Amino acid sequence: MPPGGDWYTEEWAGQGSAISLKLARKLHDEQSPYQRIEIFETATFGRLMTLDGLVMVTDRDNFVYHEMMSHPALYTHDRPRRLLIIGGGDCGTLREVLKHDEVEHVDQVELDERVTRVSEQFFPELCAANTDARAHLHFQDGIRWVKEVAPASYDVIIVDSTDPVGPAAGLFGPAFYADCHRALKPEGLIVGQSESPLFHVDLIQAMHTHLRAADFLDVATLSFPQCTYPSGWWSATLARKDATLAGFREEDCRDRPFATRYYNDGIHRAAFAAPEFLFKALL
Ligand code: SAM
Repeated sequence: MPPGGDWYTEEWAGQGSAISLKLARKLHDEQSPYQRIEIFETATFGRLMTLDGLVMVTDRDNFVYHEMMSHPALYTHDRPRRLLIIGGGDCGTLREVLKHDEVEHVDQVELDERVTRVSEQFFPELCAANTDARAHLHFQDGIRWVKEVAPASYDVIIVDSTDPVGPAAGLFGPAFYADCHRALKPEGLIVGQSESPLFHVDLIQAMHTHLRAADFLDVATLSFPQCTYPSGWWSATLARKDATLAGFREEDCRDRPFATRYYNDGIHRAAFAAPEFLFKALL
């Protein structure tokens, strides 16, 4: 058990804050070639997956993150057919994007196959779409994938990564964004998880700078509550090639033929409204 007896505690270095979840028991613990993967049964948040001691997913609140990484981007694009997910090993984002009938093909490029295999065992509902014929799972470095993929391969790229350290650091850098720009079709868009608006405004600023330098025409950040991630408030940053991010397929969104628990047309509009400090930081 981590420090704190039967509580899981993740301390946020430099922020003087932490999150704790009451645990029932530990279900799994392994060291993969890339990271330590642990699964806990919590008292009130269902199952919890941590990677190197950091919260990735809980049963109770993952729907907010996975819906916001998927649906705003897919309803902004006119016809998202070919998608790339980088990271995303718990497969919750994959499940959300495959709810869209227009999607014909999804490459998911996750570095660590063990994250997906462990998720299949302990989070089967997140992995429900893994056997969909449109889903293509690849286990390798996403940075290399976008460097080598043919130009104009995708309508949407989703970067569902761990924090910008270790193998994920390059997923926030200028060279990676330039490769993504090349890998996208005209009017294609990229969305990447961009950490906490409260704790990581410098990172969000740097993402905007790098994405603009990579020739993306429009860049915008949306935010949403995520109570088990640092500060309880999280963000995703979108960038679009050759087109604006303003507006979305509102009618399609309202008439969507699948259930969501967080996302809807009102949330779509509200999520892009920038709080004053973030608006000023991104001027
Ligand atoms: N929802 C999570 C969050 O924001 O904390 C992210 C979840 S997902 C499990 C993140 C995945 O990114 C991990 O499984 C990790 O192995 C993968 N990853 C990290 N760096 C990568 C890279 N360079 N290429 C592909 N996948 C990578």
